[in-house]
Amino acid sequence: RPIDGVALSVRGVEKRFGGVAALAGVSLEVAPGTSHAIVGPNGSGKTTLLNMISGFYPVDAGAIAVGGRSVIGLAPHRIAHRGVGRTFQTPRMMPDLTVLDNILLGAFMAETQGALAATLRLPAARREQAQSLAEAMRYLDFVGLRERAMEPAGELPHGQQRLAEIARALVGRPRLLLLDEPAAGLSLDELDRLGELISAIRGLGTTVVIVEHHLELVANICSSVTVLERGAVLASGTPAEVFSNEAVISAYMGA
Ligand code: ADP
Repeated sequence: RPIDGVALSVRGVEKRFGGVAALAGVSLEVAPGTSHAIVGPNGSGKTTLLNMISGFYPVDAGAIAVGGRSVIGLAPHRIAHRGVGRTFQTPRMMPDLTVLDNILLGAFMAETQGALAATLRLPAARREQAQSLAEAMRYLDFVGLRERAMEPAGELPHGQQRLAEIARALVGRPRLLLLDEPAAGLSLDELDRLGELISAIRGLGTTVVIVEHHLELVANICSSVTVLERGAVLASGTPAEVFSNEAVISAYMGA
């Protein structure tokens, strides 16, 4: 049973891909309004776990609840409607559309319907979301991209595309925001901005779960961490506890 007052509860989640046990009974809990990091070597199951939470693949076993309600068996767009936003390891902006149009389209359309369907729906989406324009601009401002709103998204440097994706995920005002390696490929300036941005997002009351290799960023902005290794939880706790754990240090060094 999900515990009251927990933004995200993952219990005994298992997922196999053919012969590979990507997740072999993973559990974690995230308190509302906090930032939680999922770290671990490549192939340890981090992205698979995000995919389970956002409904991209069905779980083989286990329970997942957002805000105390099970999301097991729901399609990705239903989970998005429950207030779960996400970004991807590889930015999924539509390169020929402006940054603003990408934001207006919203995260879940690109995720669930593909680029073509989303593009065909653009005029309708524009009308429906006309009132969202101010909000979209506000979030672009929030991530420092107001000036680039009218440029084709594909012309933005990689780091700015990542920040734009976060703005897109914020437009739905998610209760829970899942970020998959947001720091990858960012400049030092952008990294600072990302740290501030995630703190500000938490300030809006959004719970943040972040898959991240940049451990300094994790230590700076996250109050709790789960370390995965080969689909299982190797350690969990505060960044200080986890990063001084012998098993964690050897998992990273010995890989
Ligand atoms: P991480 O994000 O920690 O690098 P992943 O969750 O991407 O790890 O992958 C965990 C394991 O599951 C890997 O062995 C990977 O090859 C496998 N895997 C992930 N997604 C798929 C998929 N869609 N099909 C087959 N195997 C997958």
